[in-house]
Amino acid sequence: ASIPQILDGKALAQKIQLELKEKVATLESKIGRPPGLAVLMVGDNPASAVYVRNKERACQKVGIASLGKHFPGDATQAELAETIKELNQDDRVDGILVQLPLPEHLDSISLLHCIHPDKDADGLHQVNLGKLVRSESGLRSCTPAGVMRLLQEYHIPISGKKAVVIGRSILVGKPVALMLLEQNATVTMAHSRTENLGAVCREADILVAAVGKPEMITRDLVKPGAVVIDVGINRVEGKEGKSKLVGDVAFEEVAEIASYITPVPGGIGPMTVAMLLSNTVESYRQFNTPDVD
Ligand code: NDP
Repeated sequence: ASIPQILDGKALAQKIQLELKEKVATLESKIGRPPGLAVLMVGDNPASAVYVRNKERACQKVGIASLGKHFPGDATQAELAETIKELNQDDRVDGILVQLPLPEHLDSISLLHCIHPDKDADGLHQVNLGKLVRSESGLRSCTPAGVMRLLQEYHIPISGKKAVVIGRSILVGKPVALMLLEQNATVTMAHSRTENLGAVCREADILVAAVGKPEMITRDLVKPGAVVIDVGINRVEGKEGKSKLVGDVAFEEVAEIASYITPVPGGIGPMTVAMLLSNTVESYRQFNTPDVD
């Protein structure tokens, strides 16, 4: 079997962070304050806590101020909406993000819609999703943007290619399919009701798995030479009862036939964080230096 190219999201994310750090340093001398990102977390979901910590650490590396808040698990809808409205008005804040999932009693969609679209660092506000549908520029959701940036970095041809996206969530599957379509791929969206999933997947030149089912994409679902993007992050039991992270793709066996493949961890995960920082810096630049390009 030929050796596939690893799409190294970790390395690219580091490169992007260095670029952002320089950009921030230049802009800060003009704007007179650093960019600010407010990550709102509610409750003590351990996975969310890890993500929030990673985001804050990454912010620190590039010089973005973390202006987030951690609410107890019983925080109310009104309290959160009020905080978001305050952050919308706060000139130190360029990006606002609500860490999902929220506890059951909260309505995450209406909270996402409280965020001012220009500060919507996660690109999940209806205005920004609408802009994506229209192919207008706007803040784009981070995981799908990270997928596209990684493909671009490795000069992977998209135009005219058959892309299959498995998963149709508003967070990943749907926006990634729209972004591939924008780049002129012929896109199929597969999901839990798709018949003959294997046959659909085997058609793909570019296969994006965003399902949340550990290692469900086995070698027999992949066309030899395909580019395989694994968005899934699944915690499973590993050796000696320790937990480990695996993707939606059975990496070892699929790597034997793919032309390019993303690892988990070290693929789309770090790219997502890099795109979050990039969105925050872009809002900071755009709304504070209207005379710059
Ligand atoms: P959701 O649970 O919201 O969506 C899963 C999608 O997969 C649904 O559209 C569902 O179909 C589809 N699906 C479920 N089972 C099957 C099946 N057997 N065959 C085909 N399709 C199926 O998940 P998310 O989109 O939020 O996340 C997907 C994965 O990506 C998760 O592992 C998550 O942890 C990871 N993730 C990673 C990020 C990163 O930074 N790398 C960021 C966000 C998510 P249907 O609509 O019919 O129910």
